[in-house]
Amino acid sequence: MAETIRDPKIMRARILEARAAGKRVGFVPTMGALHPGHLRLVEKAVEESDVVAVSVFVNPCQFGPNEDYERYPRMFEADKTLLETKDVQWIFTPDVKDIYPHGDSINIALREVGDSLEGLIRPGHFSGVATVVLKLFNLVPAHRTYFGAKDWQQTRVVKQLIEDLHLSIELVVCPTVREADGLAMSSRNSYLSSDERRRAVGIVHALEKAKELWQANMPLADIESVMKKTMEDQGFSVDYAVIVDAESLKPTQCTGQKIALVAGHIGTTRLIDNCLLSHESEK
Ligand code: AMP
Repeated sequence: MAETIRDPKIMRARILEARAAGKRVGFVPTMGALHPGHLRLVEKAVEESDVVAVSVFVNPCQFGPNEDYERYPRMFEADKTLLETKDVQWIFTPDVKDIYPHGDSINIALREVGDSLEGLIRPGHFSGVATVVLKLFNLVPAHRTYFGAKDWQQTRVVKQLIEDLHLSIELVVCPTVREADGLAMSSRNSYLSSDERRRAVGIVHALEKAKELWQANMPLADIESVMKKTMEDQGFSVDYAVIVDAESLKPTQCTGQKIALVAGHIGTTRLIDNCLLSHESEK
Protein backbone atom coordinates (compact mmCIF):
# COMPACT_ATOMS: atom_id res chain seq x y z
CA MET A 1 0.00 0.00 0.00
CA ALA A 2 1.27 3.47 -0.88
CA GLU A 3 2.45 5.68 1.95
CA THR A 4 0.98 9.19 1.90
CA ILE A 5 3.61 11.78 2.83
CA ARG A 6 2.98 15.47 3.52
CA ASP A 7 6.32 16.39 5.06
CA PRO A 8 8.97 17.29 2.44
CA LYS A 9 11.82 16.19 4.73
CA ILE A 10 10.32 12.74 5.16
CA MET A 11 9.73 12.48 1.42
CA ARG A 12 13.33 13.31 0.64
CA ALA A 13 14.61 10.90 3.32
CA ARG A 14 12.56 8.04 1.82
CA ILE A 15 14.00 8.65 -1.65
CA LEU A 16 17.57 8.93 -0.38
CA GLU A 17 17.15 5.66 1.60
CA ALA A 18 15.83 3.92 -1.52
CA ARG A 19 18.72 5.22 -3.61
CA ALA A 20 21.24 4.16 -0.94
CA ALA A 21 19.72 0.67 -1.12
CA GLY A 22 20.46 0.65 -4.87
CA LYS A 23 16.88 1.13 -6.02
CA ARG A 24 15.90 2.91 -9.25
CA VAL A 25 13.46 5.66 -8.38
CA GLY A 26 10.74 7.00 -10.70
CA PHE A 27 8.81 10.22 -10.08
CA VAL A 28 5.51 11.43 -11.57
CA PRO A 29 4.54 15.01 -10.68
CA THR A 30 0.80 15.78 -10.95
CA MET A 31 -1.78 18.28 -9.75
CA GLY A 32 -4.22 15.48 -8.91
CA ALA A 33 -7.76 14.93 -10.29
CA LEU A 34 -6.12 11.89 -11.81
CA HIS A 35 -7.34 10.29 -15.03
CA PRO A 36 -6.02 7.53 -17.32
CA GLY A 37 -3.52 10.00 -18.87
CA HIS A 38 -1.83 10.45 -15.49
CA LEU A 39 -2.09 6.73 -14.78
CA ARG A 40 -0.26 5.92 -18.00
CA LEU A 41 2.70 7.96 -16.73
CA VAL A 42 2.51 6.09 -13.44
CA GLU A 43 2.40 2.71 -15.21
CA LYS A 44 5.43 3.62 -17.30
CA ALA A 45 7.29 4.74 -14.18
CA VAL A 46 6.39 1.48 -12.41
CA GLU A 47 7.57 -0.55 -15.42
CA GLU A 48 10.94 1.20 -15.46
CA SER A 49 11.65 1.67 -11.73
CA ASP A 50 12.02 -0.28 -8.49
CA VAL A 51 10.07 2.32 -6.50
CA VAL A 52 7.81 5.17 -7.61
CA ALA A 53 6.70 8.45 -6.02
CA VAL A 54 3.72 10.40 -7.36
CA SER A 55 3.18 13.97 -6.20
CA VAL A 56 -0.28 15.48 -5.96
CA PHE A 57 0.15 19.22 -5.54
CA VAL A 58 -1.88 22.05 -7.05
CA ASN A 59 0.83 24.62 -7.56
CA PRO A 60 -0.51 28.15 -6.96
CA CYS A 61 2.45 29.80 -8.70
CA GLN A 62 1.63 28.47 -12.14
CA PHE A 63 -1.87 29.95 -12.19
CA GLY A 64 -2.46 33.53 -13.28
CA PRO A 65 -4.65 35.88 -11.20
CA ASN A 66 -7.72 35.24 -13.38
CA GLU A 67 -7.18 31.54 -13.80
CA ASP A 68 -8.80 28.54 -12.14
CA TYR A 69 -6.57 27.89 -9.10
CA GLU A 70 -9.50 28.08 -6.67
CA ARG A 71 -11.84 25.93 -8.70
CA TYR A 72 -9.20 23.44 -9.91
CA PRO A 73 -10.62 19.98 -9.04
CA ARG A 74 -9.22 18.56 -5.80
CA MET A 75 -10.17 14.97 -4.98
CA PHE A 76 -7.32 13.49 -3.00
CA GLU A 77 -9.19 10.43 -1.67
CA ALA A 78 -10.25 9.39 -5.19
CA ASP A 79 -6.68 9.99 -6.45
CA LYS A 80 -5.32 7.85 -3.64
CA THR A 81 -7.73 5.02 -4.45
CA LEU A 82 -6.62 5.11 -8.10
CA LEU A 83 -2.95 5.13 -7.16
CA GLU A 84 -3.54 2.16 -4.83
CA THR A 85 -4.34 0.13 -7.97
CA LYS A 86 -0.80 0.80 -9.23
CA ASP A 87 2.43 -0.28 -7.59
CA VAL A 88 3.26 3.16 -6.17
CA GLN A 89 5.36 3.42 -2.98
CA TRP A 90 4.74 7.04 -2.07
CA ILE A 91 2.11 9.71 -2.67
CA PHE A 92 3.63 13.08 -1.90
CA THR A 93 1.00 15.69 -1.11
CA PRO A 94 2.70 18.63 0.57
CA ASP A 95 1.09 21.82 1.87
CA VAL A 96 1.64 25.05 -0.07
CA LYS A 97 3.39 26.62 2.94
CA ASP A 98 5.95 23.80 3.01
CA ILE A 99 6.74 24.07 -0.69
CA TYR A 100 6.88 27.88 -0.50
CA PRO A 101 8.28 28.55 3.01
CA HIS A 102 9.09 32.15 2.02
CA GLY A 103 6.16 32.67 -0.32
CA ASP A 104 7.10 33.23 -3.93
CA SER A 105 10.34 35.03 -3.06
CA ILE A 106 12.33 32.88 -5.47
CA ASN A 107 11.20 32.27 -9.00
CA ILE A 108 12.98 30.68 -11.96
CA ALA A 109 13.01 33.10 -14.90
CA LEU A 110 12.77 31.58 -18.37
CA ARG A 111 13.53 32.97 -21.77
CA GLU A 112 12.94 31.66 -25.25
CA VAL A 113 11.20 28.33 -24.72
CA GLY A 114 8.94 29.73 -22.00
CA ASP A 115 8.17 33.02 -23.76
CA SER A 116 6.12 31.91 -26.74
CA LEU A 117 2.67 30.34 -27.12
CA GLU A 118 1.44 29.30 -23.63
CA GLY A 119 4.03 31.65 -22.14
CA LEU A 120 2.57 34.62 -24.03
CA ILE A 121 -1.02 33.80 -23.19
CA ARG A 122 -0.25 32.85 -19.58
CA PRO A 123 2.54 35.20 -18.42
CA GLY A 124 4.50 33.70 -15.54
CA HIS A 125 3.00 30.24 -16.04
CA PHE A 126 6.21 28.48 -17.01
CA SER A 127 8.24 30.29 -14.36
CA GLY A 128 5.76 28.86 -11.87
CA VAL A 129 6.08 25.41 -13.44
CA ALA A 130 9.89 25.50 -13.56
CA THR A 131 10.08 26.73 -9.95
CA VAL A 132 7.83 24.03 -8.55
CA VAL A 133 9.42 21.32 -10.69
CA LEU A 134 12.88 22.26 -9.42
CA LYS A 135 11.61 22.21 -5.82
CA LEU A 136 9.96 18.84 -6.39
CA PHE A 137 13.09 17.39 -8.03
CA ASN A 138 15.05 18.46 -4.94
CA LEU A 139 12.53 16.82 -2.62
CA VAL A 140 12.10 13.73 -4.77
CA PRO A 141 15.61 13.16 -6.15
CA ALA A 142 14.56 10.38 -8.51
CA HIS A 143 16.50 8.85 -11.41
CA ARG A 144 13.70 9.44 -13.90
CA THR A 145 10.69 11.70 -14.13
CA TYR A 146 7.63 11.20 -16.33
CA PHE A 147 5.73 13.97 -18.12
CA GLY A 148 2.94 13.88 -20.71
CA ALA A 149 3.33 15.01 -24.34
CA LYS A 150 -0.10 16.63 -24.04
CA ASP A 151 1.65 19.60 -22.38
CA TRP A 152 4.34 19.70 -25.05
CA GLN A 153 5.75 23.13 -24.27
CA GLN A 154 5.96 22.13 -20.61
CA THR A 155 8.10 19.12 -21.58
CA ARG A 156 10.48 21.46 -23.46
CA VAL A 157 10.67 23.76 -20.41
CA VAL A 158 11.44 20.82 -18.10
CA LYS A 159 14.02 19.47 -20.56
CA GLN A 160 15.76 22.82 -20.63
CA LEU A 161 15.54 23.18 -16.84
CA ILE A 162 17.29 19.83 -16.47
CA GLU A 163 19.96 20.65 -19.05
CA ASP A 164 20.65 24.26 -18.07
CA LEU A 165 20.74 23.60 -14.32
CA HIS A 166 22.66 20.32 -14.75
CA LEU A 167 20.09 18.31 -12.82
CA SER A 168 20.76 14.60 -12.62
CA ILE A 169 17.30 13.37 -13.50
CA GLU A 170 16.19 11.89 -16.80
CA LEU A 171 13.02 13.14 -18.48
CA VAL A 172 10.70 10.59 -20.05
CA VAL A 173 7.90 12.01 -22.23
CA CYS A 174 4.84 9.75 -22.57
CA PRO A 175 2.23 9.90 -25.36
CA THR A 176 -1.10 11.67 -24.87
CA VAL A 177 -3.94 9.45 -23.68
CA ARG A 178 -7.26 10.28 -25.36
CA GLU A 179 -11.00 9.70 -24.97
CA ALA A 180 -12.76 7.47 -27.54
CA ASP A 181 -13.51 10.50 -29.77
CA GLY A 182 -9.90 11.67 -29.61
CA LEU A 183 -10.22 14.47 -27.03
CA ALA A 184 -7.06 14.53 -24.89
CA MET A 185 -7.83 13.54 -21.32
CA SER A 186 -7.49 16.51 -18.98
CA SER A 187 -8.53 17.32 -15.43
CA ARG A 188 -10.15 20.43 -16.93
CA ASN A 189 -12.51 18.39 -19.15
CA SER A 190 -14.73 18.04 -16.07
CA TYR A 191 -15.60 21.75 -16.45
CA LEU A 192 -17.27 21.16 -19.83
CA SER A 193 -21.08 21.09 -20.15
CA SER A 194 -22.38 18.25 -22.34
CA ASP A 195 -22.82 20.65 -25.28
CA GLU A 196 -19.27 22.01 -24.82
CA ARG A 197 -17.94 18.47 -24.50
CA ARG A 198 -19.50 17.59 -27.89
CA ARG A 199 -17.94 20.66 -29.51
CA ALA A 200 -14.58 20.24 -27.77
CA VAL A 201 -13.66 17.53 -30.27
CA GLY A 202 -13.14 20.40 -32.75
CA ILE A 203 -9.65 20.75 -31.24
CA VAL A 204 -8.84 17.18 -32.34
CA HIS A 205 -10.35 17.71 -35.79
CA ALA A 206 -8.06 20.74 -36.19
CA LEU A 207 -5.03 18.52 -35.51
CA GLU A 208 -6.28 15.77 -37.83
CA LYS A 209 -6.67 18.34 -40.61
CA ALA A 210 -3.19 19.66 -39.88
CA LYS A 211 -1.73 16.16 -40.35
CA GLU A 212 -3.64 15.60 -43.58
CA LEU A 213 -2.77 18.97 -45.12
CA TRP A 214 0.85 18.70 -44.02
CA GLN A 215 1.06 15.40 -45.91
CA ALA A 216 -0.47 17.18 -48.92
CA ASN A 217 2.26 19.87 -48.73
CA MET A 218 -0.11 22.77 -48.18
CA PRO A 219 1.79 25.94 -47.10
CA LEU A 220 2.07 26.20 -43.31
CA ALA A 221 0.20 29.51 -43.05
CA ASP A 222 -2.76 28.00 -44.90
CA ILE A 223 -2.80 24.92 -42.68
CA GLU A 224 -2.77 27.19 -39.61
CA SER A 225 -5.80 29.07 -40.97
CA VAL A 226 -7.68 25.79 -41.51
CA MET A 227 -6.84 24.65 -37.97
CA LYS A 228 -8.10 27.94 -36.52
CA LYS A 229 -11.29 27.87 -38.57
CA THR A 230 -12.00 24.24 -37.64
CA MET A 231 -11.89 25.18 -33.97
CA GLU A 232 -13.88 28.38 -34.45
CA ASP A 233 -16.60 26.45 -36.30
CA GLN A 234 -17.16 24.51 -33.07
CA GLY A 235 -17.33 27.70 -31.01
CA PHE A 236 -13.74 27.86 -29.78
CA SER A 237 -12.14 31.19 -29.10
CA VAL A 238 -8.67 30.32 -30.40
CA ASP A 239 -5.50 31.42 -28.57
CA TYR A 240 -3.20 29.89 -31.17
CA ALA A 241 -3.17 27.24 -33.88
CA VAL A 242 0.37 26.95 -35.22
CA ILE A 243 2.96 24.66 -36.72
CA VAL A 244 6.43 25.16 -35.29
CA ASP A 245 9.72 23.38 -34.78
CA ALA A 246 9.06 20.71 -32.11
CA GLU A 247 12.26 21.46 -30.16
CA SER A 248 12.65 25.24 -30.30
CA LEU A 249 8.91 25.95 -30.75
CA LYS A 250 9.93 28.59 -33.26
CA PRO A 251 8.38 28.92 -36.70
CA THR A 252 11.61 27.95 -38.43
CA GLN A 253 11.98 26.76 -42.00
CA CYS A 254 14.51 24.10 -41.03
CA THR A 255 13.88 20.44 -41.72
CA GLY A 256 13.67 19.22 -38.11
CA GLN A 257 10.60 17.63 -36.53
CA LYS A 258 7.53 19.88 -36.66
CA ILE A 259 4.57 19.96 -34.31
CA ALA A 260 1.05 21.37 -34.59
CA LEU A 261 0.00 23.10 -31.36
CA VAL A 262 -3.49 24.39 -30.58
CA ALA A 263 -5.11 26.16 -27.64
CA GLY A 264 -8.40 27.87 -27.07
CA HIS A 265 -11.41 28.42 -24.87
CA ILE A 266 -14.71 26.68 -25.21
CA GLY A 267 -17.06 28.48 -22.84
CA THR A 268 -14.93 29.22 -19.81
CA THR A 269 -12.73 26.14 -20.20
CA ARG A 270 -9.30 26.40 -21.76
CA LEU A 271 -8.05 23.35 -23.67
CA ILE A 272 -4.69 22.65 -25.32
CA ASP A 273 -3.50 19.84 -27.56
CA ASN A 274 -0.84 19.02 -30.12
CA CYS A 275 0.40 16.42 -32.58
CA LEU A 276 3.83 15.73 -33.99
CA LEU A 277 3.97 15.86 -37.79
CA SER A 278 5.87 13.35 -39.86
CA HIS A 279 9.34 14.37 -41.05
CA GLU A 280 9.51 15.96 -44.49
CA SER A 281 11.40 12.91 -45.74
CA GLU A 282 8.56 10.57 -44.69
CA LYS A 283 5.85 12.42 -46.58
P1 AMP B 1 -1.35 17.88 -14.46
O1 AMP B 1 -1.93 17.14 -13.29
O2 AMP B 1 -2.37 18.40 -15.41
O3 AMP B 1 -0.31 18.89 -14.06
O4 AMP B 1 -0.56 16.79 -15.30
C1 AMP B 1 0.44 16.00 -14.70
C2 AMP B 1 1.16 15.26 -15.79
O5 AMP B 1 0.26 14.43 -16.50
C3 AMP B 1 1.78 16.20 -16.82
O6 AMP B 1 3.06 15.71 -17.19
C4 AMP B 1 0.82 16.12 -17.97
O7 AMP B 1 1.41 16.38 -19.23
C5 AMP B 1 0.39 14.67 -17.88
N1 AMP B 1 -0.89 14.48 -18.57
C6 AMP B 1 -2.03 15.19 -18.40
N2 AMP B 1 -2.98 14.76 -19.26
C7 AMP B 1 -2.42 13.76 -19.98
C8 AMP B 1 -2.88 12.91 -21.04
N3 AMP B 1 -4.12 13.02 -21.52
N4 AMP B 1 -2.04 12.00 -21.54
C9 AMP B 1 -0.77 11.87 -21.06
N5 AMP B 1 -0.28 12.64 -20.06
C10 AMP B 1 -1.08 13.57 -19.54
